[in-house]
Amino acid sequence: MGFKVFVESSEIKFSACHFLKEPLQCTRLHGHNYYVSVEISDKLNENNFVVDFIDLKENLISIIKPMDHYVLIPTKSDELEIREEKDSIEIIGSNKRYVFPREDVFFLPLPATTSELLAKYIHEKLKEIYRNKKISVKVEESKSTMAFFEE
Ligand SMILES: [Zn+2]
Repeated sequence: MGFKVFVESSEIKFSACHFLKEPLQCTRLHGHNYYVSVEISDKLNENNFVVDFIDLKENLISIIKPMDHYVLIPTKSDELEIREEKDSIEIIGSNKRYVFPREDVFFLPLPATTSELLAKYIHEKLKEIYRNKKISVKVEESKSTMAFFEE
């Protein structure tokens, strides 16, 4: 038996576009409104909180805001070649080539920008703040499809 806090809000979201290796429709550039929620489990602290809700919400928003309204590009993909020009980013895949303005791109140190790996990325950022706590991150890319990472 332990305590848990859960933070979920219509304000905790980011909109971004990406493309994946498969399935076919996901290989085309497309976007999502990603809703993010977090559950943290631990003992109570000296103030009888697991964590401060307001801090948690602010920390979560500060992690996801840099991705809001950007093109998400995974830098650890084996399939993509990323070329940085002066003001643009060229992405070369197996049979496609995209060029984006540098200022519109957010790089993620991930092999792909699946919701699963976005959840893991957000989890890692939260873990830097809430080191010894059990954290579960949920990323919803639509009302019926969501991914979790917890540890
Ligand atoms: Zn997608």
